[in-house]
Amino acid sequence: MSDSPKGLDLIKPQESFKRLRRTRMTDALRSMVRETELSVNDFIYPMFVVPGKNFRKEIGSMPGVFQLSIDETIKECVEVKRLAIPAVILFGIPEHKDEVGSGAYDEHGIIQEAVRAIKKEIPELVVITDVCLCEYTSHGHCGIVRGNEIVNDASIELLAKEALTHAQAGADIIAPSDMFDGRVRAIRGTLDANGFELIPIMSYAAKYASGFYGPFREAAESTPKFGDRRSHQMDPANSNEALREVEQDIIEGADMVMVKPALSYLDIIRRVKDRFEMPTAAYNVSGEYSMVKAAARNGWIDEERVMMEILLSIKRAGADMILTYFAKDAANVLRR
Ligand SMILES: [Zn+2]
Repeated sequence: MSDSPKGLDLIKPQESFKRLRRTRMTDALRSMVRETELSVNDFIYPMFVVPGKNFRKEIGSMPGVFQLSIDETIKECVEVKRLAIPAVILFGIPEHKDEVGSGAYDEHGIIQEAVRAIKKEIPELVVITDVCLCEYTSHGHCGIVRGNEIVNDASIELLAKEALTHAQAGADIIAPSDMFDGRVRAIRGTLDANGFELIPIMSYAAKYASGFYGPFREAAESTPKFGDRRSHQMDPANSNEALREVEQDIIEGADMVMVKPALSYLDIIRRVKDRFEMPTAAYNVSGEYSMVKAAARNGWIDEERVMMEILLSIKRAGADMILTYFAKDAANVLRR
């Protein structure tokens, strides 16, 4: 027994576990087996553009995020570009709101002017425009309201009009966020008929009626005056339905699909990615941002660590692109 090679007698049948910790023992080893890595190329930075000049107002519930006039938006975009973040997504707050959200499809509306200004100063920055009516309607709904009903088909005509004015202003990607049926087809048709067949559509394909949008509504001044968005946004309980929504948008012409919010819907991101293998975006929404900021301010969590872990989890779930208010902070961390 004693002259058998050393070690063989150590393999005992009862020792059936595997030593998975072997690859975790040093930084170098951990970096070699790491499966997911965040890159600044993953980020899209959301911005809120308002009328006026020299205007910069921090959103109370979203520390570090501002409503910006166009001149200030440009300054911010220069910073975004310096950090090598490839894209921004713009939300507009108009001077006046009305029943039909006419500020949304005015060729000299806030977003149209902002896009022109950004593309003139920083042409390489990818400018995505959010297409919806809720920031522009006096009642705060995403479309036309008749009686107590939010009307689908009349609304998508206006959304297509809005998308066209964004493309004409120079937007690189059109991102409809309304969740009405048939909007991607209407927008694709209108863009194609007007010579914009190469402008991609990033559809908010699986967008849930979520409590995590609270701080955004302060930022975008888009809280509905009555009712809610549950007749068009999805029920948080549903997962199969998300696949039907995404499939429909792809059939209608979406080039990229989005899941929103991200954190409570990581399973949806994974199912969408696995099923369709499309460029997939996830929106790390305002409430998800504000919770981290608030807890960090109380000293309850390590903000930077939690931020990076959240973003990593969204990418690990299958997102190729992450819309996040953390984009600049995370880009700074990645540069170190
Ligand atoms: Zn909306």
